[in-house]
Amino acid sequence: MTDTLVFYSGPDPFEPWRAALAPLLGDDVRIENSDAVTDPETVRFALVWMPPEGFFDRFPNLELVINLGAGVDRLVARNDLPDLPITRLSDPEMGKMMASFALFAVLRHAREIPHFEAAQARREWAYRHPKAAGDISVAVLGLGELGALAATEIARQGFDTHGWATRPKDLPGVTVHCGDEALPHLLAQSDIVVCMLPLTPATRARIGASAFAAMRPGAAFVNLSRGEVVDEDALVGALRSGHLSGATLDVFAAEPLVPEHPLWTLPGVLITPHLASVALPKSAAPQIVANIRAVQNGEELVNTVSRVRGY
Ligand code: NDP
Repeated sequence: MTDTLVFYSGPDPFEPWRAALAPLLGDDVRIENSDAVTDPETVRFALVWMPPEGFFDRFPNLELVINLGAGVDRLVARNDLPDLPITRLSDPEMGKMMASFALFAVLRHAREIPHFEAAQARREWAYRHPKAAGDISVAVLGLGELGALAATEIARQGFDTHGWATRPKDLPGVTVHCGDEALPHLLAQSDIVVCMLPLTPATRARIGASAFAAMRPGAAFVNLSRGEVVDEDALVGALRSGHLSGATLDVFAAEPLVPEHPLWTLPGVLITPHLASVALPKSAAPQIVANIRAVQNGEELVNTVSRVRGY
């Protein structure tokens, strides 16, 4: 009997994923869009992004859920998720795209671009002498697959780069700090804070009033992971008071950000509509196929998600 990989994604079209996966999977795994599954009993693998409630009940022989993206917060929070291994995407191109966006955001603040944009609007030649990268301290909160790449890319540019995670790790050019007790001191010494934390019960609203108060006066904040990790009212307060000099924000608690939200018009704030990085079919296909083969051959999976940790 031929195994089936079922695909479901609201935003991603089926065809590019089918085209990237088919040559690697060959004839022994059929790839079907969820609304065209011919034999649900043959479905052993699901490649999904936010499928509707009850989706998994249709497939009694499902063995692996592959999250079509890096962030698994929506998936692991569901109460209809079967007790099966979960893997997520973390492909090389996605990592590069995120690292380059993180670097762009850091450079935007390090080179005071918001100041020059505001001056340009006034036709004002507002020279400010640039600082050396080594004199600017950057903290990357979250050193996972994407966060670690972002931190090393920032370090490669010569910034005084620090990272924060639950466990120690070795990253070239990055000083790593671990655990809750290390955070206030790290925030207090940083000029630019980049949030790369996954959304979990432990990180929800973790960057709130006390975290912003701990940051240096004039610091800038960047959020590229999930909006709900940040208390947005506290962020607005810190920007309005001038305690923070600006922010680069790609993710928000409620997306799309409503037109009347104060963040749209606060000085020094750049808003982008959740596109710092995306999953790319050609680059992600090999790891999806590797995990399908691992299930078929009883081998170990890669890029697994811990339901207990939530990431
Ligand atoms: P990972 O799941 O690989 O890593 C998470 C990191 O956060 C780990 O270093 C982990 O520490 C750390 N962490 C988790 N909880 C805590 C905590 N309570 N205290 C301190 N550190 C903690 O994530 P990725 O780097 O792959 O991705 C990060 C997030 O980026 C994703 O979860 C997703 O939400 C978001 N994303 C955003 C996109 C966009 O376009 N804006 C695109 C893709 C992803 P440890 O290493 O010790 O486990």
